[in-house]
Amino acid sequence: MIWPFRRRTAAPDLDPVLWRQAAAGLPWLRNIDDARAAKLQALVAGFLAGKSMTPLHGLRLNDVQRMRLAMLCCLPLLEFGREGLHGWRELLVYPDAFRVQRSHQDAHGVLHEWDDELIGEAWEHGPVILSWADVRADIAAPRDGFCVVAHEIAHKLDALDGAMDGTPPLPRDWQKQWASDFQRAYDALCEEVDAGRESAIDDYAAESPEEFFAVCTEYHFSDPRRLRDAMPEVAAHLQRFYGMPLLA
Ligand SMILES: [Zn+2]
Repeated sequence: MIWPFRRRTAAPDLDPVLWRQAAAGLPWLRNIDDARAAKLQALVAGFLAGKSMTPLHGLRLNDVQRMRLAMLCCLPLLEFGREGLHGWRELLVYPDAFRVQRSHQDAHGVLHEWDDELIGEAWEHGPVILSWADVRADIAAPRDGFCVVAHEIAHKLDALDGAMDGTPPLPRDWQKQWASDFQRAYDALCEEVDAGRESAIDDYAAESPEEFFAVCTEYHFSDPRRLRDAMPEVAAHLQRFYGMPLLA
């Protein structure tokens, strides 16, 4: 896949006071080392310069809240780098969970339509959409296994190679190992869920390989120990891909 070539504009410097205020509210940044903090600053500057952030339905976001959102979106890119921001330009933020209309034509040609309530969504070739209430809930309870921003950014990283299949673009050898380790863990999870046993991680991960990757990403950022205990190979890949967990 070829990305359109754009002129590289230097990202503007970030306001250090704003940075400190925004960072103070995010548990993931409490013990971040200087090298990773500097990487994050560069990513956030690029994010704020290159993407629009649109609050919807009467939501207002101040500069600190905007920067926090940008920080959260960039945390999964600390190892991958700024190429991880490619392929999308718009972040839409609803005050709370939002409804979307779904439709599906079945094998008999019958069209089924239904409403779905979501807290986040990442279109394969479009915006990232978030519920602000759920982002705030994740910040307030950072170790409970949920992190909607990391989940949606995982989908965006997954989509970078043109296929949302649970495997982001990686060097060939690593990709092979990743695909086989993830498949094995995914199959084992699906077996547990099908048998009605309680799974070690949220059973939403059994929906599809891409949801498995996104849900495991949430655990990397919010409950890495649980992921390590349940699926050590997957946890090791994610640690290499995202860096050492920021919450031990
Ligand atoms: Zn998802």
